[in-house]
Amino acid sequence: MIRTRFAPSPTGYIHVGNIRTALFAYLLSRHDEGGSFILRIEDTDQKRFVDGAERAVLETLQWLGLDWDEGPQLSGAEIGDFGPYHQTERREYYQRWAEKLIAAGRAYADPYTPEEIQGFRDEAARNKKAFRYRDHRPNNPPEWNGTQPLRFKSEPKDYSWHDEIMGDSAGGRDAVDDFILIKSDGLPTYNFAHIIDDIEMKITHVIRGQEFIASMPNYLSLYEALGEAPPIYAHMPHILNETGNKKLGKRDGAKSVNEYRAGGYLREAMLNFLASMGWNDGTEQEIFSPTELVEKFTLSRVGRSSARFDEKRLLWLNGQWIKRIELDDLSERAADFWGEMGQKADPDYKKEVLSIVRDRLKTLADLPLLSEYFFSTPKVDWPMIDSDKQLKKLPRADQISLLKSAVEKLSKISLTDWTSENLQGKLNELLSLTDSKPAVLFSLIRFALTWAPFSPSLPETMILLGPDETLARLQSAIVAGK
Ligand code: GLU
Repeated sequence: MIRTRFAPSPTGYIHVGNIRTALFAYLLSRHDEGGSFILRIEDTDQKRFVDGAERAVLETLQWLGLDWDEGPQLSGAEIGDFGPYHQTERREYYQRWAEKLIAAGRAYADPYTPEEIQGFRDEAARNKKAFRYRDHRPNNPPEWNGTQPLRFKSEPKDYSWHDEIMGDSAGGRDAVDDFILIKSDGLPTYNFAHIIDDIEMKITHVIRGQEFIASMPNYLSLYEALGEAPPIYAHMPHILNETGNKKLGKRDGAKSVNEYRAGGYLREAMLNFLASMGWNDGTEQEIFSPTELVEKFTLSRVGRSSARFDEKRLLWLNGQWIKRIELDDLSERAADFWGEMGQKADPDYKKEVLSIVRDRLKTLADLPLLSEYFFSTPKVDWPMIDSDKQLKKLPRADQISLLKSAVEKLSKISLTDWTSENLQGKLNELLSLTDSKPAVLFSLIRFALTWAPFSPSLPETMILLGPDETLARLQSAIVAGK
């Protein structure tokens, strides 16, 4: 049975790269029936601890639907048989394994002051040699009393291993060193704690960023000393920023997933986007539902090379998903995004508006701009027409006269004939009558009705506005334009 884990450190915002790792671990566990996805909080670095960061992680996972089988819950409780799931609450495990290592002669108290160690470093730098702690291993280390750092007594040799994504890999003895297991503050290092936890929590697959590959010889050396078999590894390639060849970072505008959520992105689009950074199913398919991702995901189809972060693609996918979600569901998710007047409008009317504007939404945050004119009469804004590429070529008098013909034509339609088909027919008649192009006539009417940069088709818009409002808006435009 597969047991994967996501092990974030609550040190700040959780960016899309971290969440992609969580997604891949989740997909692996769900693809395999009976697999478990475990959430573990790696909070041993007290200096970098950020209040609220853990909650943000939990909320993000929950919003994305990456439900975890074990670990802390938003309610404050924990679920699962392998807890506690916060490393700061697992000190007794680290202590127990540390004592085993000491007894086996594979760990020792570090007697040096930080200044002395810095001295060793400087000396190595002067001699143009790589600094290694094990070159300065003390002959008679003092007994470990819990206030000195506890170091691993490594066994330098060459290691090779298999990585499910990176393939067969190897690391030389030079990479192996006596790293710290437990710091002088009594808390374990990541290097020690994650291995103990992965053993204790019976983790079968470790999926994480490629920045940990360099430490693999150390980890394997520690597994050997502990007498335990390492899990299966899958190191994920980096995500590169949009323009350069640097790892995606906060400065590249890589927002936290919560910011995307607040910006009107749908979870389906976010999951689709994250999965596509590094994974494909071997076909040209681009849109995958969460269920399809679970069905199709395998580590063997995760690429070795870095994926590029492409926010435009995320935006495109979001537009695709806004079109695909069931209307009732979409209108629930849109609830917080309506503009001032939309918020107060009748729910059924709002749903109708949503059904015709959704195709033009890239994010739910576009809603006010693309819908407020359905809820209140917009301010006439002729400069908008004056800056339109096609329309500005036409003299104002001609624009006004086109609008007048529109009023004349449309005012003859009775309420019962105010249907999509009829409206389209009349608009087409108007087109030949005035001998103009759709890009001119229809855009003009569109502006006069909505004063928005985009809007649904004219018949759809006119039906929702109704005949009175439609004609009144055209009239106001004529009056203001004279
Ligand atoms: N706490 C580590 C991090 O946030 C996790 C690495 C791992 O998954 O082993 O980078």
